[in-house]
Amino acid sequence: MLTHVRQPVTRLWDRVCRGFAGLDDLLFPPYCLLCRTPIDRQNDGLCLTCWQELTRNVAGDYCRRCGRNASPFGIVNNRCGACQNETPAFDGIIRAGVYETALRSLILAFKFHQRTEYAPRLGRMMRDALTVSSFARQIDLFVPVPLHWRRRLERGYNQAFYLSRHLCTPPARICTDLVRTRYTKRQWNLTEAQRRRNVKNAFAVRRGHPFEGKTVVLVDDITTSGATLTECANVLKAAGARQVYAVVSAVAHQDK
Ligand SMILES: [Zn+2]
Ligand SMILES: [Zn+2]
Repeated sequence: MLTHVRQPVTRLWDRVCRGFAGLDDLLFPPYCLLCRTPIDRQNDGLCLTCWQELTRNVAGDYCRRCGRNASPFGIVNNRCGACQNETPAFDGIIRAGVYETALRSLILAFKFHQRTEYAPRLGRMMRDALTVSSFARQIDLFVPVPLHWRRRLERGYNQAFYLSRHLCTPPARICTDLVRTRYTKRQWNLTEAQRRRNVKNAFAVRRGHPFEGKTVVLVDDITTSGATLTECANVLKAAGARQVYAVVSAVAHQDK
């Protein structure tokens, strides 16, 4: 008897819910998060064009030593042509993609427009790239590249910390004992040499840090010249870290 009553009630409730969803779409039609094209609610927030751009972007081959674009045929002894004569301070770098097209829009929105809801998506892309890396199982600590407290106050959050939360899985843990001790200029318009000077001696580790003998992964959103990652890696190695890798959402300006 009860089943007979329950079925029509369930059907009626389904119909009411569908009605509300339809009304919601009518009042608040879903748009692509990046280009504002109207989309189907099923599309996970992006239109087909943006999805394709993002997929193409993260599928590019690159050098795991310096992060630049490089075909597998151009890598000799784990080095691409561009980094043959360089000695990066970090032991390797993993990137989700290149700082252009849809990935650039996603990072800009996340970093400068308070769109912290994009962190899981960016974190997922970084995690996919990291999972297949040679050092994924050795990681002890994820270290977000720190902001100076004044910059964090201006922005309201450290985007690298948000990304770390989506990358870190036990037994690894997030460590914030690397700190920025000096307020540095934004690096957009600086030359490579100026960038290096800008971040020189800008980082330090807290007393009682756990870096001694550990495999550490630095986390950041964008790297351009690698000056910040280099400076951080040098400080971590001086503090005793056994290996320091980097993982970023995107590598910008490939041609230095
Ligand atoms: Zn779009
Ligand atoms: Zn390289």
